[in-house]
Amino acid sequence: MKVIKPKSGEIFDIELEESLLRKNRELAEENKKIFNQYGIKAIDILGSIGSGKTTLICQLIKKLKKDYKIGVIAGDLTTEIDANLIKKNGAKVVQINTGKECHLDAKLVNEAIKNLPLKEINLLFIENVGNLICPAEFPVGAHYRIVIFSSTEGPYTVIKHPHIFKEADMVIINKIDLAKKMGVSLIKLKKDIKKIKPSIPIVEMVAKKGKGIEKVVKFLKNA
Ligand code: MG
Ligand code: ZN
Repeated sequence: MKVIKPKSGEIFDIELEESLLRKNRELAEENKKIFNQYGIKAIDILGSIGSGKTTLICQLIKKLKKDYKIGVIAGDLTTEIDANLIKKNGAKVVQINTGKECHLDAKLVNEAIKNLPLKEINLLFIENVGNLICPAEFPVGAHYRIVIFSSTEGPYTVIKHPHIFKEADMVIINKIDLAKKMGVSLIKLKKDIKKIKPSIPIVEMVAKKGKGIEKVVKFLKNA
């Protein structure tokens, strides 16, 4: 089949985009410096809408709030639904509404940091805007990136989004209890992930029920 692909330099505004990405990376490094200065471990959580990012964060807060002072930056286009849910679990939350922007960038996170009591936090979750494409290109200064997707997203989630899996430090396959119904093979998904990044830890999860959460807790405690 004939496949149309942009040649390099053919995408509009490519120079603009390169300088934008460079500036973002610089600012991400600054954010990381701030995190380090305050002794904060920062975790960027990436995944599509409905993949379970907020549920994961709420479950992690329950398990970790005895040992950590937790803050959350919740990214969303327009709503505060997630931030309110997270707040109920007892973490300090800042909401970023990105409007039309489909990812968080380092500048937005920098603004959010200014609104968090950094001295009272040593573990920070950053819930990125829900998609598996552009957030890959915009590091925000986090020390680790966790990618979560659910079996209900279908059998090709991994091979269709190679970049984000390449950038991940841990991958969570959520809603594994629905995999069979969806005709999705977990073995195949795991193979796809390992092909992109052989060394990556993969966690099978049912976030709503807390299944698999312990593995992430352990990862974060050793991180
Ligand atoms: Mg959410
Ligand atoms: Zn985007």
